Amino acid sequence: MVHKETLLMTAGPTMLPKRVLDAMNRQIIHHRSRAFEEVLTGLQKDLQYVFQTVNTVLILASSGTGAMEAAVVNLFSPGDKVLVLSNGMFGERLAEVADVFGLNVQKLTFGWGQAVNIHTVADTLEKDDYKEIKAVLMVHHETSTGVTNNVEAVCRLLEDSERLSVVDAVSSLGGLELQTDNWGVDVVISSSQKALMAPPGLAFVSMSRKAWKRCADAGLPRFYWDFRKYGKGFSGELACTVPYTPAVSLLVGQAEALRMIREEGLQNVYERHKKLALAVRAGIKAMGLSMFPDEEDASYIITSVKPPEGIDMEEVRRLAEEKYGVMITCGQRRLKGKLFRIGHCGYVNMSHIITTIEALENALSDSGYHVEKGKAVQAVRNTVWKPGNTNKTIS
Ligand code: PLP
Repeated sequence: MVHKETLLMTAGPTMLPKRVLDAMNRQIIHHRSRAFEEVLTGLQKDLQYVFQTVNTVLILASSGTGAMEAAVVNLFSPGDKVLVLSNGMFGERLAEVADVFGLNVQKLTFGWGQAVNIHTVADTLEKDDYKEIKAVLMVHHETSTGVTNNVEAVCRLLEDSERLSVVDAVSSLGGLELQTDNWGVDVVISSSQKALMAPPGLAFVSMSRKAWKRCADAGLPRFYWDFRKYGKGFSGELACTVPYTPAVSLLVGQAEALRMIREEGLQNVYERHKKLALAVRAGIKAMGLSMFPDEEDASYIITSVKPPEGIDMEEVRRLAEEKYGVMITCGQRRLKGKLFRIGHCGYVNMSHIITTIEALENALSDSGYHVEKGKAVQAVRNTVWKPGNTNKTIS
């Protein structure tokens, strides 16, 4: 049986709140109108809140990868030496993008499933060969494995230098703490379809003063993605304008989603993600399964799990989706067969988690893995959580 509405428990796209759906279900407004300017002004303020920055957040009509490419062409010149920290598929993608545009890419690779080792990064940056490094590029939450990297520690290494920090926060922003200004992150890249609770199709980039300076001198060709055009529209008081026809309906939806995040409060949103992640982990353990990454490196955005021996996880995934109405994902490329992933970011609450764990119990059982049905769900329900102030959570 195919369910009418599949519960997306993936790392994105994530489920949309009804408020977001309703906001988008309206006649289009013109992008040179006062009404649109108001949408954009509110959106900009709320993006700054979520990014934790006073700087303008650029809004692009693209997915996360488009923003990765846009950041590269706006910050560098051919031959610039950059250090890419890679511990998964998206770290590899950062290196690929930089390579395609002719940068001199130095890659520091770590185990897939382990966090970036800060001492190794520090030692590398000290080496003579790395003196000319213009930027360090890294992923905050490596979605392919479920590992969180320590952005703050990497940025501390770059303080008081001309080097830029460029952080892919596509799957973390709005779910995991990321203090752009306090940590000194120069460039943060994110997109709409994950913790930000909006449909796919929008990407966001925050730029520090240092990054804008670099942008002015960058030598790579750029036209559509020229950040100077996107930044300009936000320089004045209510003078919010866009260089080209924007994805109006998506922007309206994103504005509503960010209003919801602001209403809940960013700290409460982080706490909710943590609470739900711990509940999923309790359920996973009760099924006799273990996490793929080292537990201390695991994010609260997804739970990445080692498949049980001898069980075809693709089949479990299919059953979970088609028979039980819950979509989870398996490992991609070199992680195929090595893990499966339960996403719990964005518009997620405890009842979604219970539904998911129940679906997983059933799908695993149908596939021949022994589970004591109901035990994992009970473990989820038993999760004890003593938050400071999570009384206003999404329900
Ligand atoms: N970076 C990270 C960490 C991601 O998780 C993703 C998508 O899952 C991307 C980049 C690429 O984003 P998109 O698929 O929106 O282009």
